[in-house]
Amino acid sequence: MAFEGLAQRLQGTLQKIKGKGKITEADVKEMMREVRFALIEADVNLKVVKEFIKTVSERAVGQDVMKSLTPGQQVVKIVKDELTALMGGEQNPIQFARKSPTVIMMVGLQGAGKTTTTGKLATVLRKRHNKKPLLVAADVYRPAAIQQLETLGKQLTLPVFSLGTEVSPVEIARQALAEAEKEHHDVVIIDTAGRLHVDEALMQELKDIRALSKPDEVFLVVDAMTGQDAVNVAKSFDEAIGITGVVLTKLDGDTRGGAALSIRSVTEKPIKFVGMGEKMDALEPFHPERMASRILG
Ligand code: GDP
Repeated sequence: MAFEGLAQRLQGTLQKIKGKGKITEADVKEMMREVRFALIEADVNLKVVKEFIKTVSERAVGQDVMKSLTPGQQVVKIVKDELTALMGGEQNPIQFARKSPTVIMMVGLQGAGKTTTTGKLATVLRKRHNKKPLLVAADVYRPAAIQQLETLGKQLTLPVFSLGTEVSPVEIARQALAEAEKEHHDVVIIDTAGRLHVDEALMQELKDIRALSKPDEVFLVVDAMTGQDAVNVAKSFDEAIGITGVVLTKLDGDTRGGAALSIRSVTEKPIKFVGMGEKMDALEPFHPERMASRILG
């Protein structure tokens, strides 16, 4: 289960303060020390931890919340509010183009779950948004990647546009958009190449695809299990090509939670979806408040 350690520690800490009818600054300070340890242990970015502790401490000492709660309950509410804010506050929906097709570019490092997420996203778009997606295989470096997407397409009975490995990704994107127009697809999802590391050649290629296809969304797929690395990858991709949102995969595993709590604050880009398993129906919209509730119990 994701966040297990963090949840246990925070719940334990907050339990102690919850019943208190009167709270001193020293109580807040002691609690904050424990919250700080819990967040660091969960691999949350240090700068993010510092800001979080500062905000919660100020609010907890100031006690600007509801009169109906005891001081202890108020502090717990402040922690929950700020945890929610840290993850972006509101759920952030997909931005659809005013004029079809909506173009979504999927980017990320190899193994993060990009191709799987492409299939899952198409499933969500078809089921919940009534769309007719076209999947585009633009990873020309790995024939296996194209095959993987084609297999997913067959499994989902969704068309996959591919031109093999001899045509440039930009040209593939160009022809895919023409195909979408012709066949009346209202969403085009471009599965781009991933590499093992962030590198210049990859970024240039992604910039070129971006310039040509003018995507409404650029989703970075990152693996939650990689913690702070996921945050650094998000920062690099955002600086190099500009992303519009993050899909955090493998949240069904026992990730400590650092990436989920840090990405928004470090990149200022929202987590839009979370991957909760390998199956095609295991993609969920990311709800900061629900996640905060899950962590705080
Ligand atoms: P890509 O190289 O980024 O395209 O990665 P893939 O889509 O091939 O995924 C790599 C591996 O991660 C595959 O075995 C997927 O089944 C797995 N995977 C992807 N998303 C999730 C997820 O949310 N949870 C779990 N448990 N596995 C996932």
